[in-house]
Amino acid sequence: MSETKAAAAKAGNMTATVRTAPERMCVICRCRFPKSTLTRYTLALQENLIIDSKKNRPGRGWYLCSDPGCAFKFAKYRPGKRRKGKEHV
Ligand SMILES: [Zn+2]
Repeated sequence: MSETKAAAAKAGNMTATVRTAPERMCVICRCRFPKSTLTRYTLALQENLIIDSKKNRPGRGWYLCSDPGCAFKFAKYRPGKRRKGKEHV
């Protein structure tokens, strides 16, 4: 009985949208996107944000969408730091 369904899926251009893909929120625009389309950054030891290409690094991660505007803002975005301007050296 599932044969017709499978055949229809094969024949049609329908992708498997029925399955709910994992979504994550872009830290800048706060829109939700499928996880696969986002770039994940994690905080490295040197406090530099690095791309977590495998999306499985431990610890806090930040997801960024493909919007250039978000990338631009994210360049100045530093998590956990207040924008007070001055830092103790
Ligand atoms: Zn975004």
